[in-house]
Amino acid sequence: MLEPLSQIGIIDVIDILILAFLLFCVYRFIRNRRAGKLALGLLLTVLVLVLSTVLNMKAIGFVLQNFYQVGIIAVLIVFQPELRAALEKVGNNPLISKIKDITTGERRQYMSDLSHDVDSICSAVFDMSRAKVGALIVIERKTKLGEYIDTGVTINAQISAELLKNIFFKNAPLHDGAVIIRDMRVYAAGCFLRISEQEGLDNELGTRHRAALGVSEVSDAPVIVVSEETGNVSLAIDGKITRGYDRETLRKTLFNLMVPTVGRPQRHEKEEKEEKRDE
Ligand code: ATP
Ligand code: MG
Repeated sequence: MLEPLSQIGIIDVIDILILAFLLFCVYRFIRNRRAGKLALGLLLTVLVLVLSTVLNMKAIGFVLQNFYQVGIIAVLIVFQPELRAALEKVGNNPLISKIKDITTGERRQYMSDLSHDVDSICSAVFDMSRAKVGALIVIERKTKLGEYIDTGVTINAQISAELLKNIFFKNAPLHDGAVIIRDMRVYAAGCFLRISEQEGLDNELGTRHRAALGVSEVSDAPVIVVSEETGNVSLAIDGKITRGYDRETLRKTLFNLMVPTVGRPQRHEKEEKEEKRDE
């Protein structure tokens, strides 16, 4: 009876480990998404199919087998945004970095511009937080957010705290919706984002926070939310929202997210400290 076990070779073990890892990745990806429920539903139909085969129930077996043929296409259509996000994440190889080939001088300029832009965003965010002005700011990274940009008004201006505050100022024409930052420019405002369908969120998290979560679920963009009700500053990344940011934590988190992994100069931390001393 144990004979098959003795036939298991090292390749089989590696095979199973890779499969287990891939399944884990799929599980991790769908855990917090609406696709999670679908996966559960599909699992249930597989169980019913197995049962119907074992018990030789022909009618159920027939229906389910046909369901799978049509079902795969239906799943592809319904979950197109999630699937696209997953594939884009796989394609986002950190080794293919935009600033990999640039010279040290250009790199230093890039870092200093980035640091300045992140500072401006944080200034605006915490001024709005103190004044309880609601805001929603998406920072595009590798996943392109054109479909959301198209719902708003293109601005394409240099980042400044004044501009951001002006956009979200109560009753200003573009205060409703989200600002999308692209290539570290205020690219569009008044954008309508997809709303997350996550369940079990705190009641304080209304549509603005859900919209932040929604985009972070299908892209690699960090999304900043300033609550109009409480002034609380939150950041949504990768389908998770964290509340209660202070200025320094937000600045560090955003800066680290925006610096590509490769090409990051060793000097960066020292430079940051020096900059802080200058302030
Ligand atoms: P707050 O804490 O600021 O009250 P909230 O999470 O409770 O935020 P709401 O009170 O519902 O959310 O905020 C409504 C505002 O959020 C809208 O006026 C609009 O500016 C913005 N908003 C809501 N849904 C979206 C969306 N899908 N895309 C972009 N912006 C949105
Ligand atoms: Mg509200």
